[in-house]
Parts: sequence; structure tokens; C-alpha cells
Amino acid sequence: MQIRGAVLREIGAERPWAASRPIEIAELTLDQPGPTEVLVQIEAASVCHSDLSVVNGSRVRPVPMLLGHEAAGRVIALGSDVGGLSRGDGEGGGGGLEVGTRVVMTFLPRCGECASCHTAGKAPCEVGSRTNGAGELMAGGSRLREHGTPVAHHLGVSGFATRAVVDYRSVVPVDDDVPAPIAAVLGCAVLTGGGAVVNEAKPRPGSTVAVVGLGGVGLAAMITALAHDGVRVIAIDTLASKLETALELGAHEAMTPEQATERGVRADTVIEAVGRASVFGFALSITALGGTTITVGLPAPDDTIEFAPLGIVAEGRTIIGSYMGSALPSRDIPKFVEMWRAGRLPIERLITSHIGLDGLNAAMDDLADGTQLRQVISFIDDGSGVLDRAS
Ligand SMILES: [Zn+2]
Ligand SMILES: [Zn+2]
Repeated sequence: MQIRGAVLREIGAERPWAASRPIEIAELTLDQPGPTEVLVQIEAASVCHSDLSVVNGSRVRPVPMLLGHEAAGRVIALGSDVGGLSRGDGEGGGGGLEVGTRVVMTFLPRCGECASCHTAGKAPCEVGSRTNGAGELMAGGSRLREHGTPVAHHLGVSGFATRAVVDYRSVVPVDDDVPAPIAAVLGCAVLTGGGAVVNEAKPRPGSTVAVVGLGGVGLAAMITALAHDGVRVIAIDTLASKLETALELGAHEAMTPEQATERGVRADTVIEAVGRASVFGFALSITALGGTTITVGLPAPDDTIEFAPLGIVAEGRTIIGSYMGSALPSRDIPKFVEMWRAGRLPIERLITSHIGLDGLNAAMDDLADGTQLRQVISFIDDGSGVLDRAS
């Protein structure tokens, strides 16, 4: 079938990307789903730093690549084996996937069989990590072609498109009362930031959580921490506009890193959501005795710091790396949906603009500049399946 999607042609193009336009909207051929795959009509997709990391080259991936991994849509066809499959890894049955089901796409499918898949979400699946790195689906290869040439998938999803074929383990069903833009943001920002809180920080009443870096993931961590009774939340960012947003969302205090250092802030849990080694060093410096530093950001592979291990030992501190919020998507997304339904997780506040597919180059500039949180592309189906709109 023919689809329309946002294809990254060149990594590390000159900024502004609105001018150099490394992302092009193209007509592509999408194969029918394989036996363990599903075809999804994309309803909404949002722009995340992991898209930006491919555009700016800090995560090297094959190109051409159809970007987008924070997305939601409706299942419109099931592979021949999907009905009878279980998810493995304690993720519950493969049930719940039917034609018409709204699904959240997630960016790391778990095979359910490798050693890492037996860690209850702690370690990223080895198979999923490998196929993600290769720009393939979990069953191998690409389902996307342009003039006969394969186009790589982004993180097993490629959601900046009118339709997507993905592994059945890359989707989690949600009820129809969850609007598609909310469902999209659940799949990456909330799963990553919120997951770091519920699966790793597990904050106790009377404790303090500091979140460093108030992008979509950091703010998702912040609102999840705020949903815990009796937890004091400190928001830290260099941009005044983000500190303002954090206070509006209920942060108890908001400050710059310099202010945090000056005031001698030491938090029981510090969540680093920037993805820069120097910021990780800062996060370590404001972690309390006996406290925990959790890093969810993804720095470039050659970005390093030096620190003295003595402080970790002498102060009895813990460092945790958390990929995708150490989450099992089918276990954790329903938890976040419940919190959202109860009015305790204002995910809609993370969405700061609606754009069309053709606005993606400029959207990458805005994300890099920190002027937007989540920018959502909404799709409508006019029967051709190839329209999108800015709403
Ligand atoms: Zn993401
Ligand atoms: Zn696995």
C-alpha cells in the first residue's frame, strides 16, 4: 500500500533545519504486516528528543529513515499469528489486539525470550535493541520502500506516517477514552520519565525528588512524582520559561542549576533527563547522602565526565540507569492511564503545539532550542489514508 511519511535523508545537516530540510515528506510503499506484526492507522504522533538525536547525529542510525516513535493509532490489520501469541516477559497475553483497537506505540519491543527480557523491564531487550539499531522490525528487515529501495524504521515504529507496520510487541492497547495525542505521549515521554519515577525512584512520603531537565521526559517525571502524596518536587532547568511551566504544573520549587548549587540543594532522588554527561555530573552533586541519582537521558557515546567514586561510597549513594523508564509497557501504560483518568497526571499540559507533517523540520529546531515541549501531528483518514493536518 502507499503511505505518506517523513523521511530523514541526511544526518547532521546544517541548522536551521527549517532551511536545510533534512526531513522530506515522501510517498512510500508499506508492505502488509508479517505473521507477528500489525498494521496501524496512525492518529497522532509527537516529536521527541530521540528523533532529534538522529537528525543531529548524536545517535547514529541508518538513513534514509522514516522517523517518529512516539505515536498512537488504530489497528487496521493483524498478522496471521498475532491472535494466538503471548507477549512473554510477564507482559500478559497478546490479547486485546483486534482490528479497531486504539494502541500506544512503544519504542523498544521486548522479545520475551532473551536474558534481558527476564529482568522485569530493567534491561533493554537484546533483540529489540539490535533490530532498533539496524532500523529494522523485530522479525528482521524493513517493510518500507521508496522506488524499490528499503527505508529504515525508527525504533521499530516509524510513526511520522499515515500508516505503520510494527511488531505486535511494539503496541499496547488503550481504551477509546484516551485521546490519540495523549496516547502518543504516553508511549515515550510518560513511559520514560514516569517509569523512572514509579519503577526506580518509588518516592516515599516526606522525601524530595529533583528533576533536572524539563523537556517532555523531565516534565513527565515531574508530574508523576507530584502524583505521589507527600513528595516534595524540585524542578531544575536553565530556561526561565521551563521553570515557569514547572511551577504552573505544581512543582514546589523551580530553579536553575546555579541556584541549586548556591542553595546547597541535596535531594533524596535526582532524575537527570537531559542526556549530557556534564548534567549527569551536576545531578550527582545534588544527590543527598544515601540518595539515588537516576539517569534517563541519552548522551552521545563520546560524551564523558570524571567523578570521584569516593563520594558514592562515603555517602552511600546509588546510581541507576533507566532506559524507557525500566518499564514493561503493557504493565505500566495502563497504570499511567489510570493516573491520567483520575486527574493526577496532566499529560495534556505537555502538548504545546499541533503541527503538520511538513512542519517537522522547523519542529526539530524548536525542540533543540527548548521552545516547545511536545509538538503533535494529528492525522485524519479521508479514505486514501494519506492525509495529515495541523489542528
Ligand atoms: Zn522518545
Ligand atoms: Zn528480549
